Amino acid sequence: MSQRPYPASVDVAIVGSGPTASAYARILSEEAPNATIAMFEVGPTVSNPPGAHVKNIVDEERRVLAQRASEGPGAGAATVSSPGAVKSGERRARPGTYLLSDGYAFPGEDGLPVAAMSSNVGGMGAHWTAACPRPSGKERIGFVPDMDQLFNEAERLLGVTTHAFDGAPFSDIVHERLAAAVDEGRDPAAKVQPMPLAVHREPDGSLMWSGADVVMGDATRQNPRFELFDESLVTKVTHDGGTASGVEVQDRRTGTSHRVAARRVVVAADALRTPQLLWASGIRPDALGRYLNDQPQVVFASRIEGAVEAGRVEAKPTAGLTQQSGVAWVPYTDDMPFHGQIMQLDASPVPLAEDDPVVPGSIVGLGLFCAKDLQREDRVAFDDGVRDAYGMPAMRIHYKLTERDHEVIERAKAEIVRLGQAVGKPLDERPFVLPPGASLHYQGSTRMGLEDDGESVCSPDSEVWGVSGLFVAGNGVIPTPTACNPTLTAVALAVRGAMKIAKELESSLLMSESDNRIAK
Ligand code: FAD
Repeated sequence: MSQRPYPASVDVAIVGSGPTASAYARILSEEAPNATIAMFEVGPTVSNPPGAHVKNIVDEERRVLAQRASEGPGAGAATVSSPGAVKSGERRARPGTYLLSDGYAFPGEDGLPVAAMSSNVGGMGAHWTAACPRPSGKERIGFVPDMDQLFNEAERLLGVTTHAFDGAPFSDIVHERLAAAVDEGRDPAAKVQPMPLAVHREPDGSLMWSGADVVMGDATRQNPRFELFDESLVTKVTHDGGTASGVEVQDRRTGTSHRVAARRVVVAADALRTPQLLWASGIRPDALGRYLNDQPQVVFASRIEGAVEAGRVEAKPTAGLTQQSGVAWVPYTDDMPFHGQIMQLDASPVPLAEDDPVVPGSIVGLGLFCAKDLQREDRVAFDDGVRDAYGMPAMRIHYKLTERDHEVIERAKAEIVRLGQAVGKPLDERPFVLPPGASLHYQGSTRMGLEDDGESVCSPDSEVWGVSGLFVAGNGVIPTPTACNPTLTAVALAVRGAMKIAKELESSLLMSESDNRIAK
C-alpha cells in the first residue's frame, strides 16, 4: 500500500475529528485562513460528507455498516438499541460505540463498566442524540467571562434549533403535563421547554442530524490549507523545552510512523483518550485523568392514553423502531440537580402485547441525568506495562459513587416516577438506574482551571499548563459537575481556544510579512 503524503510540517495539528476537533478546524479556517491545518483521526471515514451523522444514512444496511465501522476494536460485539434495554450487570455498547475490554472496574469500586468510545471520522458526534442545552447554576464555569458569547458561537457551529419536532404528535400534551408538574416557582429559563437540538428539517421534511460535518462546514471543507487524514493514530505529542513541537502519527493502513512538526497541537481525542495521549507523550500534570465524572442516569417510561380517543392525535401505527417524535427538556436547577430529557418514541422500550400497536409519539421515555459529586480519586489512570488494542498505554478506571451521589440518585428516582405519572401511565413499576458510564458524557479528565495549582490540566483557553502551544478539547475540559449534555459546552470552550490560536498565528504571520518587507 502506498505511503500517504503526510505533511512534514503544519501550523496546527488536530488530533481527533469529533465536534470539538471540528470546532477548532472551523474557527481556524474562518479566522486564520493562512494557517495550514492537518487533522488526524484513528478511525475510518464512515459517512459523507466526512463526519456526517449516521442517522442521515437512509439505507439501513449502509447505516449499520457505518456504525460497525465506528466500533474500533469492539466491532462485532452485541449492541443495544435503546438505553432502557440495558439490563443491570449487562455490558453492551450503543451502536457506533465500543466498551473497554478490561480495566473498567476494580474491587470495592463502582467503576465505569459501560464507558464507551467511538473511532470514526466525526467521533461520537456521528452517533449522538444531539441534545444541546445550555448549563445553568452550579453547572456553569464561573471563571470563563464570555461563556454566553461562546454558547452563541457553539450553537451556530452545531446548527442548534428548537423547532425540528414542532407539531410532533402528542408533544403539546407532553409539554402541558410536564409543565403542570414542574413549572411552578421556577425562573422562566428553568421551565419545561423544547430541547435545543442540533437537528434541522430539510425542505422535503426529512430530519438532518448535525455531526462534525456541520461543525466543519464549507469554510473548513473548502479551505485549501486544511487536510483530514483518517485511519491515522497519533501516538505522541512531541514537545521541546516546554513547547509543543508536533505529533507522531501511525498510518493504520501501512503501520508506518511519521513525524509532523506543528506550531500548535490540539488534542481532541475524547475524555478518556486525550489524557491517554498526553500520558503516552510524557506530559503528566498532577490532575491528568482525575476528577473523571459521568452523569448517573435514571430512566423510566410512560404511555399516553386517551388522547387518540379524545381526537387530539391521529392513530397511526409506525414502521420505524427507534425513531423519536419529539424531545422536551426539564432543565437542571441547583435545588433539583437533574437534567430531564423526555423523548417521545415511536416504539416502546418495554415489550407490549402484540395486538397493542404503538401510536407514534405516545410512548414517553424519561431520562434524568444527575450531577456527580466530584472526587479527585475518580480517575482514568494508565498502565505503561500493558497496551490497549491500538498499542497505547492501557486505561485503568477508578470510580466510586459517593453517599451524596446515592442520595441524588434516590431523589432522581422519585422525581422520574412523579414525572412519568404526570405524563401518562407508567409502563414499569420502578425506574431503572443505568450502569455507570451509560451517560456517554465523561468529563473532568483534562479539566480547566484559573491557575496551575495541581487541580487542573489547562488554562481557561484550554492550553495545557507547562506546555505552551498544546491545547486540549472535549468534555474532559469541563471542570464543573454538570447534569446537562456536555457537547455544547465543550464546543463553546473549543471556540475560545481556537480564537486564541487564530489570533496568535495571524499576528505572527503579519509580523513575518512585515519583516520580509523590511528585509527587501
Ligand atoms: P468524540 O466525538 O468522542 O471524538 C473523539 C475522536 O478522537 C474519535 O473519533 C476518536 O477516534 C479520535 N481519537 C482518539 N484518540 C486518537 C488518537 N490517538 N489519534 C487520532 N484520533 C484519535 N452529547 C450531548 O451533548 N448531547 C447528546 O444528546 C448526546 N447524545 C449521545 C448519544 C450517543 C448514542 C452517543 C454515542 C454520544 C452522545 N453524546 C451526546 C456525547 C457526544 O457525542 C460527545 O460529547 C461528543 O461527540 C464529544 O465530542 P469530541 O469531539 O470531544 O469527542
